[in-house]
Amino acid sequence: MWEAAPGTFAGGTATRVDERIWAIDLGFQGWDQVVYAYLLASPDGGELALIETGPAATLPALRAGIAAAGFDIAQLTKIFVSHIHLDHSGGAGVIVREQPDVRVFVHPIGAPHLIDPARLVNSAARLYGDRMDALWGEVVLVPEDRVVSLSDAETLDAAGHVLSVLFTPGHASHHVAYWEPELGAVFTGDVGGVRMPGADFALPPAPPPDLAPDDWVVSTDRLRQTGPRRLYLTHGGPIDDVSEHLDQLMPNLAAAEDICREAMLAGADDAEVTELLQTHTEGRIGAAVTELPGIVQRYGWASPSFLSALGFRRLLARRGEIPKP
Ligand SMILES: [Zn+2]
Repeated sequence: MWEAAPGTFAGGTATRVDERIWAIDLGFQGWDQVVYAYLLASPDGGELALIETGPAATLPALRAGIAAAGFDIAQLTKIFVSHIHLDHSGGAGVIVREQPDVRVFVHPIGAPHLIDPARLVNSAARLYGDRMDALWGEVVLVPEDRVVSLSDAETLDAAGHVLSVLFTPGHASHHVAYWEPELGAVFTGDVGGVRMPGADFALPPAPPPDLAPDDWVVSTDRLRQTGPRRLYLTHGGPIDDVSEHLDQLMPNLAAAEDICREAMLAGADDAEVTELLQTHTEGRIGAAVTELPGIVQRYGWASPSFLSALGFRRLLARRGEIPKP
């Protein structure tokens, strides 16, 4: 974990992935493909919306990506976030501080944490310690009157695109995915898992505090029921073999849970469980693929094994299956 990228990829590339949609690679921690934001433009190019911002630390890459796509961030009117984990929405506050007309759309449970990020920052600081700043940058509040709480199944305009809101708990209780019916695409945030180009393995990130596999199963079915031809993952980019991807996601989550339960019942500590999960993940990525430079590291940056170990420990303790930590 925390392995530096071999190159110095600064991010800021924009790939046109659909009609008036670009995937902006944020170059998270020097790695490509690990964290994306999606840029949506109106037919006349005059209005922009973002799905995800990435952390504040990668805002220079976000701005460069918007420019590379041929636009100016000053045209941005709306930000839609999948959830409030800092790799997805950490940059929203800084953007709104600079462009006070921008509104941020978020699940109602997530909204208070954008308005007052103190608790979010404290819990992240417990996990990341002195790496906080390098990972996430400055976490700035979004003024209350700029935050819009979403309703499930509502339909919204996003720079001329239609976005239908899918409440999709499991990875986090306040997780939302966005379905674009005209394109047949879902922007999945983390509920669609992590999948790096070149690999087949769909990794469900399982962090604390409110990991809920039963809810996640229902949410995965919900993604499936929209009948998408494509998923836009925040971690890894577009996925076109949608059924194969979604079909393995929940079995993979269950397998990781079983590994954690068995190890924790046998008294394994967090470091030992992390090691077991990491070994399992590398095995599932597969020997042929793990030789691709950086693929294991990319999965690790998108979904660190130590974080999933903590997530499963909290889940299993909450269910009374293991002693409280
Ligand atoms: Zn997350």
